[in-house]
Amino acid sequence: MTLKFKEPAPIVDHLNPLESMMQRFDEAATILGLDESTYNALKSPEKAVIVSLPVTMDDGKVQVFQGYRVVHSSKLGPSKGGIRYSMGVNLDEVKALAAWMTWKCAVVGIPYGGAKGGVQCDPRTMSDGELERLTRSFTGAMRDVFGPEKDIPAPDMGTNPQTMAWIMDEYSKLKGEASPAVVTGKPLVLGGSLGRMEATGRGVMVSARSAMAKLKMKPSEATCAVQGFGNVGSISAKLIEQQGVTIVAISDISGAYYNPDGLDIEEAIEYVVNHKSLDGFKGGKIITNEELLELDVDILVPAALEDQITEENAARIRAKLIVEGANGPTASNADAILEANGVMVVPDILANAGGVSVSYFEWVQNRLGYFWTEERVNRRADRIMKQAFDAVYKAARKHNCSLRTAAYIVAIEKVANTSKLRGIF
Ligand code: GLU
Repeated sequence: MTLKFKEPAPIVDHLNPLESMMQRFDEAATILGLDESTYNALKSPEKAVIVSLPVTMDDGKVQVFQGYRVVHSSKLGPSKGGIRYSMGVNLDEVKALAAWMTWKCAVVGIPYGGAKGGVQCDPRTMSDGELERLTRSFTGAMRDVFGPEKDIPAPDMGTNPQTMAWIMDEYSKLKGEASPAVVTGKPLVLGGSLGRMEATGRGVMVSARSAMAKLKMKPSEATCAVQGFGNVGSISAKLIEQQGVTIVAISDISGAYYNPDGLDIEEAIEYVVNHKSLDGFKGGKIITNEELLELDVDILVPAALEDQITEENAARIRAKLIVEGANGPTASNADAILEANGVMVVPDILANAGGVSVSYFEWVQNRLGYFWTEERVNRRADRIMKQAFDAVYKAARKHNCSLRTAAYIVAIEKVANTSKLRGIF
């Protein structure tokens, strides 16, 4: 069984992520001078499917779970996006996450639209058997939504390569043919790609490196705090540390761990493999998640949940650079505060796009039936991330706006132009 990473406790949900997404969309659409018809066509998802999933639990009782799949756009290609298993899943959250996938794929220039799925459940309290039955039931319910040329799921919070293996198996059985390209983030033996596990964290590192160069920040003199120690947080921390940056704080659901002299990230990862969380980790002094966000560091990587940086705490953020590993970690009403304080924010739809970029490579390899070396995957993914950063940076200069607004501008322009070429109405 693959390691199930823990998610940190939510702080306070100040602004619904859909509102945050829409505020940014509106701002970029205004700067772009997007016409009303295109604006209206892009603001609502193409499809939202809600299903009830009865699952027999280990005690013999049937529990009914709510499942969602929202396809925001399929203009640039089949829709792409992860599946989240969490108690916080609701339609608005999935809609926001689906739209973010559209903008994310467009920013990095991969031929996909955006989608997201979720099941409201607590995977930490469920057995492997229960998770398997739930996943197969969800896949069955979505058999006409998913498809290698239609809509391609992937892991997100609370799901992992094993979950993707069940989706691939169930879908292939239902269709009566091997269908590895229906889902990405699979285990290697089932057609997964080398480099996919590390891809999101790697993209966060490449984004941090590009931003540090613009800020003339020397990695060997920089300090960094990482919120969240799941797949994205732990690998971001490891790879940023390898750049020479001192990681002074990390956190997960058990709390935050701070050591001004630097934490040993390999040791922390090893600890989580053995203990399932950082609970009891002795590498640093225990602080709160809120304190971690406000530490006097050069770089902050929020890689946990949505809405961690809000109008309430934004003024207390002391990092000069924020690289968003999570989706939506900054509420939109915090943007202006960070900007006024001169904090550079590499936005989620750019910074964490390394994962979906390598998902694209996995899908390409599945369709080719030919697999690349890890070196080739990493080289191509790094190039995508670097080019996307440079394009967004250039757009920010051109429109005299933040990197976040610039990323939305680049993405919306691409999707709007494609929609016009295809003809929308
Ligand atoms: N769940 C990841 C994200 O939010 C990956 C999506 C994918 O690979 O399709 O970007």
